Amino acid sequence: MKNDLYAVVGNPISHSKSPRIHSLFAAQTGEPVEYTAIQAPLDGFADTVTGFFDRGGCGLNITVPFKEQAWAMASKRTWRAEKAGAANTLFIDGDGHLTADNTDGAGLVADLVKNHGVALANQRILILGAGGAVRGVMGPLLAEQPRALVIANRTPAKARVLADLFADEVGATQLRGGGFEQPTEVFDLVINGTSASLQGELPPLSPAIIGPSTVVYDMMYGPDTTTFNRWALDNGARAAIDGLGMLIEQAAAAFAVWRGVQPDTAPVIAALRDRVG
Ligand code: NDP
Repeated sequence: MKNDLYAVVGNPISHSKSPRIHSLFAAQTGEPVEYTAIQAPLDGFADTVTGFFDRGGCGLNITVPFKEQAWAMASKRTWRAEKAGAANTLFIDGDGHLTADNTDGAGLVADLVKNHGVALANQRILILGAGGAVRGVMGPLLAEQPRALVIANRTPAKARVLADLFADEVGATQLRGGGFEQPTEVFDLVINGTSASLQGELPPLSPAIIGPSTVVYDMMYGPDTTTFNRWALDNGARAAIDGLGMLIEQAAAAFAVWRGVQPDTAPVIAALRDRVG
């Protein structure tokens, strides 16, 4: 039997762990999936996508810097992609529409709740950053009905714009946005969605946001504890989690969208952790 074709598209792409993750999912579930990595030219994303589906491809993951373009070129969007303004998953639906989904938020929530037993309902959450990753996870985080969700960003205006954008989805959650200096109370969960850790930098935060029961989550991951997680642990955080689980959970959610089968992520996280760590 011929395998169904899937791929991740980005630029650069050689570092991507997605082919390994999806081939582990395929082996585990027995689904006939072949998954590759495609580097699209910076000015040729749309042609790359169109060419892939014209050749009979079944689904794509999209990564930096094309998530917004993927969202824009789709003719249909799921609810979680619509508000995210970015897509990490594309497929052709039963009516032939190029459909955009965003599984990043579902991946973050699954990693926190399922893999780490971190409660979100009625909790006070601080999220750092106001770029694509934070926008992508806002809807699924608010759907968990935290008591408060505070967005803090280097450019405070962007955090306020994001808070306004999601004002109609807050339910009973208190939602506000501002700069890094503004949160000075203890939070139950602090999520780092900035790219500061990539440069080994730390947002200028008050250590007063960390208490003995605070859990921190850095969307970044690597062999060593990230700069942000190290800072939080040094200031007394109860636990620090990195973003490898989010990466694998967003992949599992995309696999489920495409194949209708939910892979077991635990062995895949363990296999990738061995490589990262
Ligand atoms: P964007 O470029 O869209 O946004 C970057 C954000 O980081 C902005 O809010 C920016 O602030 C802030 N920032 C950048 N540098 C610094 C700094 N030195 N100090 C403080 N703030 C800074 O990136 P993304 O939102 O796409 O990605 C953010 C992070 O999330 C990356 O590390 C990425 O690897 C990670 N990620 C992880 C995923 C996973 O599955 N684990 C999935 C998606 C992303 P400003 O607005 O002021 O410029």
